[in-house]
This record gives sequence, structure tokens and C-alpha cells, in this order.
Amino acid sequence: MPITGKTKLLGVIGDPVEHSLSPAMHNAAIAHLGLDYAYLPFPIQKENLARALDGFAAIALAGFNITIPHKQAIIPLLTEVSPVARAIGAVNTVGRTSKGWEGTNTDAIGFIAPLKELDRDWTKISPIILGNGGAARAVVAGCVELGCGEIRVVGRDFEKLDKFKQSWQDTPFAGAVRVHLWDELPALVSETKLLVNSTPVGMSPHIDRSPVEEAALKQLPENAIAYDLIYTPSPTRFLQLAQNCGALAIDGSEMLVQQGAAALQLWLQQPVPADVMRQALLANL
Ligand code: NAP
Repeated sequence: MPITGKTKLLGVIGDPVEHSLSPAMHNAAIAHLGLDYAYLPFPIQKENLARALDGFAAIALAGFNITIPHKQAIIPLLTEVSPVARAIGAVNTVGRTSKGWEGTNTDAIGFIAPLKELDRDWTKISPIILGNGGAARAVVAGCVELGCGEIRVVGRDFEKLDKFKQSWQDTPFAGAVRVHLWDELPALVSETKLLVNSTPVGMSPHIDRSPVEEAALKQLPENAIAYDLIYTPSPTRFLQLAQNCGALAIDGSEMLVQQGAAALQLWLQQPVPADVMRQALLANL
């Protein structure tokens, strides 16, 4: 679709933003739908965030995604923030409404999308999440949305873990989270049917690393799912080892596709072709 005088703009802000795969995914879907939209990368430095928002309002940008380092900093600049984004503490999608900018977070929807395809009784599953960073927060929200039981978050720093646990108080997600130090993990593995890696351990170029040793993965029960948020490489060493131990492996690419599809659907208010976005992502990885 050529750019016209009526082309509406979408985009992603971040610093850096050059590596983002979102323009490829979104523009492929927009082209497939034959819509007069364009999705652009906007490199915005921290100190320019508020000015950028004013500029986006002036040119009536229809919506945008947010990546590092603005996911938390943007919250006080928005007119409305959805409960899930408040609980996660980060916004990855902003849309324009009659009142102003409305922020939400589609990472949790993206995380659970491949899980929802599986026939499991999530209420009987107590997931283990490795890592207590930003992505782990979306995973917790996703697990609550699925209806999972107790959610065990494993980290290496007691103070950070405690802060993580406290941060869910006063949110609809309070009470679901238990925290554990890394040395408790081997004893917990045999009790979970969903083990999620939300650390960067094993990400390219350190592809020979796994956050969990094979000996511990052997303790996974039958029909367990090993889910790695990392999408390069795919599969990671963690997923290879878990698969060797009989687990079902899910990598992070579908989460990336589905968080994008959920954002685009929100802006366009119509169904979007996730398969086209997936193909564009895989072609650009
Ligand atoms: P983050 O906020 O920096 O958090 C990383 C977490 O991993 C922290 O809890 C950190 O522990 C822990 N960690 C780092 N190195 C570790 C090590 N060597 N051993 C044990 N724990 C370690 O990063 P994030 O944004 O949560 O992202 C985490 C991963 O998820 C990245 O690989 C990212 O690419 C991926 N991700 C994927 C998607 C997707 O759509 N598929 C979306 C978001 C993120 P400390 O806090 O103690 O340092």
C-alpha cells in the first residue's frame, strides 16, 4: 500500500529501537489487510519522552508500542493505564482515545496465547518462573489469567525477590506469588508442570548456557511444559534439555507475535492476521 495523504501512523518508541522486529510484523499485517497505515520506529531518548508524546498528539499518531527504556517511565505521562499494566508495572502499548493516551500491556496475553492452545487444567498447575525481572511480571499476570494455582518465582537476590513479592500487594494479583532462591529450585522442579525461563540465560550469543541443569530437568513430571521467553536461538539449550527429558517445549517467538497482534487489534479494532505477523517475524529473526 503506498503512503498517501491520509496514511495513519503507528510506531514503536525505544532507545535503541533499531533492533525491533515490530515494524516488520506490523507492516506485514497492515499490508495483508490492505489498510492505509504505516508502522514506524521512533528512536526516543529518555529525556525526550514527554516532548515526543506531545508531538505524537500533535500529529494524531493512532498508537504506539514501547520498548526499553520507556516501559515504566511512560506511566505517569498517560491519561489512563489499564489494571493489568498497573499490576505489571509496565506499559508496552499505547492507544489514542478521545481523552488522551491510554496505556496497557499485551505481554501477558502474548505469553498465554500458546498455552491456551493446550488442553490442560491450569487450576491444578503451580508454575515455576525463573527470574524476577520485567518479563517475569507479565508471566505472573498471564499465569493468574490462566487460573493457575500458586506461582513460584525463583531469583538469585533475596531483597529483589522480596520487593517483587511485595509489589503485587494492592493489585488483583496479590496472594498468588511465592518467592524462592535459586538453590531451592531442584527440590521444586518435580512439583511443576509449567517451568518458565524469564532470565536471559541461554540467549544468543551465550547459546551453550541453560538456567537449569539436565539433572534437575529430569525431575520434571510427565506432560510438563518448558517455556523459554527467549526466541534467539530457538530452541535454546534449556528447551533442548527439557525436551530430551520428555517435556513439551515452547519458545518465546509466539509470545512476541501475539503481544504484537493484541496491540494491533486494539488500535485497529478489528481481527488481525497473526499468521502473517509470525511469518514476518520468522523471516526477520
Ligand atoms: P530483566 O528485567 O533484565 O530481568 C532479567 C531477570 O533474569 C532478572 O531477575 C535477573 O536477576 C535474572 N538473571 C539475569 N541473569 C541471570 C543469571 N545469570 N542467572 C540467574 N538469573 C539471572 O529482563 P526481562 O525484560 O525480564 O527479559 C528477560 C528475558 O525474557 C530476556 O531474554 C528477554 O529477551 C525475554 N523476553 C521475551 C519476550 C517475548 O516476547 N518473547 C518479552 C520480554 C522479554 P537479577 O534481578 O538478580 O539481576
